[in-house]
Amino acid sequence: MSVSPLVGPVENHREREKGFLVYPVYSRRSGGLSMGINLFPDRKRCSFDCPYCEVFPFLAKPEFSAERMEIELRDTLAEAAVRGLPVRDICFSGNGEPSLSPYLAAALRRAGNVREEMVPGAELVLITNGTGLLQKAVFDLLQDAACSLPLNIWLKLDAGTPLWYQQMNRSAVPFEELTAKIKEFAACTPVIIQTMLCSVDGKAPPPEEGQAWESLLAELAARAKNGKAGVRKVQIYSKARPAPEDPKAQAFPLTYLESRAASLRLALAGVSAPVPVEVYQ
Ligand code: SF4
Repeated sequence: MSVSPLVGPVENHREREKGFLVYPVYSRRSGGLSMGINLFPDRKRCSFDCPYCEVFPFLAKPEFSAERMEIELRDTLAEAAVRGLPVRDICFSGNGEPSLSPYLAAALRRAGNVREEMVPGAELVLITNGTGLLQKAVFDLLQDAACSLPLNIWLKLDAGTPLWYQQMNRSAVPFEELTAKIKEFAACTPVIIQTMLCSVDGKAPPPEEGQAWESLLAELAARAKNGKAGVRKVQIYSKARPAPEDPKAQAFPLTYLESRAASLRLALAGVSAPVPVEVYQ
């Protein structure tokens, strides 16, 4: 059994391109050591085609197995414990959109059990672009897991208009259909929204895009019911790692991210209970 080596104090997602099912990284947004779970160790599978995507084309031998994932997760957590490294979360992401995997339900269940047993202080996280919510089975699975495991759902929402959505995510899933389903989901399940801000082909998002994105987030935040749903937090970040399509997408400076965050905080004020807006570069 090969176990992905624990990495140094920088993010290193490249382990997931070597066929590992579990890849430890130091994550900016987790604020510490994160145990990434990769449901696609053999090749990338995603319903988006983001120009900033950092997954380089690759083909590897291993196929996903929930049983093997559990063994790798236990081994890697045990190694972290021996080294005295606190684990902040166990995070489903890596090489694509997790909800496209037929193993998602089994993998969530096993990872939830391991978390409870070995690192009860760590969170269980799923990073998703939300397209899976269009399938009732995935919608129900994530809604149930959010409550029962519990699972924290980090939802990508890069755009407020169909035009910018096509620039940033280049998906066949219609924007209106996707955002309608995200609104439905946020009305019953808490989510953390993640927004990538970067330029595409040298162009920044137009002003009407920023306003539409703020209105959409305000609408999602207003869906909170007794703190049991809605938006728990918004994370704004920019491109920080190399991507196969470089230099198509380019990072924005911290000042731009901060100004968008400040504008969003104003838009959210008074709409719901306070929603933290965090910036990562
Ligand atoms: S949703 Fe994530 S994995 Fe899919 S293309 Fe975009 S950045 Fe890459």
